[in-house]
Amino acid sequence: MGVIKKLPVYAEKVPGGGIITTQLNKVFTLTQAKSLWYLLFGTACCAIELMATGASRYDFDRLGMIFRASPRQSDLIIVAGTVTYKMAPVVKRLYDQMAEPRYVLAMGGCACGGGPFYYDSYSVLRGIDKVIPVDVYVPGCPPRPEALLHGCLEVGKKIRTQKMDDWS
Ligand code: SF4
Repeated sequence: MGVIKKLPVYAEKVPGGGIITTQLNKVFTLTQAKSLWYLLFGTACCAIELMATGASRYDFDRLGMIFRASPRQSDLIIVAGTVTYKMAPVVKRLYDQMAEPRYVLAMGGCACGGGPFYYDSYSVLRGIDKVIPVDVYVPGCPPRPEALLHGCLEVGKKIRTQKMDDWS
């Protein structure tokens, strides 16, 4: 019963028995939240901070976050950097290729809303939420790795509040 004491949210004790019950939904959402595989879409300076977050000092892997090169194996797409109108259809296409449930993190001022290119640019998209739904925004120019880690934990929190019915 030590397991039940450690996981009160996910397991329930059946009175008088050695049985643990839980809900399939909780198992799926917890496992996904704790093992987010991410697709990296880095286009500019913010991508350098993203790479730093994946390196040994900040160590993305300790959160269960593993980089995937294919959208079909990814739960999360991290868009880091400036996205132009020309690139926007590519971002949309990659998002469409990801399996449900899928999540989007916009990293940096450019991905969140155009950043320093918001004014006087003929080519920069004013935020990727113009083409795909964004779950978590991490502002900054560029955001520090700590901010990105916090954003990823926020994605995990959001996943844990969802139900399998939401995925269809
Ligand atoms: S938000 Fe700033 S650091 Fe990030 S891509 Fe745009 S200009 Fe570069």
